[in-house]
Amino acid sequence: MGPGQSIGILGGGQLGRMLAHAAQELGYRVHVYEPSANSPAAAVADRETQAPYEDLAALEAFARLVDVVTYEFENIPAEALEAIENIVELHPASGVLRICQNRWREKAWLKANGFPHAAYAAALEGDIEAAAAEVGLPCVVKTADFGYDGKGQMRIATGDDLVRAAAIFRGRRCVVEQWIDFDREISVICARTRSGETRPFPVAENLHANHVLDVSIVPARIESSVETRARSLAVRIADRLGVVGLVAVEMFLTRSGEVIVNELAPRPHNSGHWSIDGGETSQFEQHVRAICGLPLGPTGARNPTVMVNIMGDAWKWRDGAVIGEPDWTAVLAEPRAKLHLYGKPEPRPGRKMGHFTVQGADLGDTLSTAMSLKATL
Ligand code: ADP
Ligand code: MG
Repeated sequence: MGPGQSIGILGGGQLGRMLAHAAQELGYRVHVYEPSANSPAAAVADRETQAPYEDLAALEAFARLVDVVTYEFENIPAEALEAIENIVELHPASGVLRICQNRWREKAWLKANGFPHAAYAAALEGDIEAAAAEVGLPCVVKTADFGYDGKGQMRIATGDDLVRAAAIFRGRRCVVEQWIDFDREISVICARTRSGETRPFPVAENLHANHVLDVSIVPARIESSVETRARSLAVRIADRLGVVGLVAVEMFLTRSGEVIVNELAPRPHNSGHWSIDGGETSQFEQHVRAICGLPLGPTGARNPTVMVNIMGDAWKWRDGAVIGEPDWTAVLAEPRAKLHLYGKPEPRPGRKMGHFTVQGADLGDTLSTAMSLKATL
């Protein structure tokens, strides 16, 4: 599918916006489908459909106007994807999203295919006591559906926690998973084409704050044998899923050096944003290449790169209202830094508003520059 044709994107968030930028650089036209108004992706798209995911007529009309469809958002109902797939190519296919959008199916898939993962038990009626007894404490309860950025999950360390969690999660489909006392969190994003060619990006090392990604560091500060294992795991997962596009594999590196899969996302991922400024090819361009049947680009890092998320918390708040924006001066004044803001209409605590990257020849120095800039926001 040559440049000039139309790519439909389901979802209008920042991932869709950065995907649209990359698609347009290659000459594609972009049509965003998003239920809410003033979305970050619709602001840069060639065309927008604003309608709910339940509106099958709107979805079908959208599908007829584009040459391929992809998504930047995982919580899209199966019926919506099927309606689209009946009309136009959807990448990654609905079967891939079906596995990745539900934690229980995702874990069962990892288990059935022999990929390393944390021990877990399903609590499909919200009966988490039994599941926690099976897994042991400490553990973490996660809702099977609609979880992201640490929402819908709770760590359980004591019997009291269990009583509270049981009340909160009663009646909801959950998985209870063993708590991993990890050394580091890492991720690998792997692209796979229609013909089955795969190409993993370098491993990113991820630091989280309140269960949400805060900082990604490339290269990850891990042994080269771990880098090799993590990348090969991501390639095998991409192959086994048969994904066309990207799959992001979040992993834990345990203290004994094991690499365990945490979760999968069949789309560009926050931990790959470093690649826009620091990669030979950005994850967004790679996704476009894969879904459009173009050759994949090289995935190396040009330089050590650190990515820092900018959350709504960085705005100045008084009594629950915004009274000022962060002071961007230091980030803008740093020649090695690049600022990316997503154009979201309204900051909120916990909402991802943008990110910045810092690059440099030396990782230690780049990381300390990034952390000092972070402190100025
Ligand atoms: P989300 O969809 O919100 O990203 P995750 O399952 O990735 O959900 O959990 C968010 C973060 O919570 C992880 O990146 C990690 O820091 C922490 N976490 C989740 N599950 C575990 C676990 N089993 N052991 C230790 N930490 C965990
Ligand atoms: Mg995660």
